[in-house]
Amino acid sequence: MKCPTCGISVSKRNLTCHSCEAELPRTAEQEMAATAESGGGGGGKIFPILGWVFAILSLFVIPILFGIAGIVMGVFTIKRRSKIHGIIIIIASIVLMILGSVISALMMMV
Ligand SMILES: [Zn+2]
Repeated sequence: MKCPTCGISVSKRNLTCHSCEAELPRTAEQEMAATAESGGGGGGKIFPILGWVFAILSLFVIPILFGIAGIVMGVFTIKRRSKIHGIIIIIASIVLMILGSVISALMMMV
């Protein structure tokens, strides 16, 4: 489908245009998912959970990989669930990623 605002080609699954950030008209399927989410109150729950898991993993294994994964989950959390929670996850991911890098650097020196 095409974005009604800027005309760029966008995925049907996106809620907003990746180019101009305009809200896209929702399909019936997305409408149902959104209703289920607001009713259940559990929409996008997986993002903060994965964010914390990745952030903590970045402290122990491959800090860059899991740190970035944690940041990405933080971004999803901001978009889908809670702005503040998402920002906390991003900050935690960055801090733990740096700590994890320092720890692995120290381990190599030993
Ligand atoms: Zn657009």
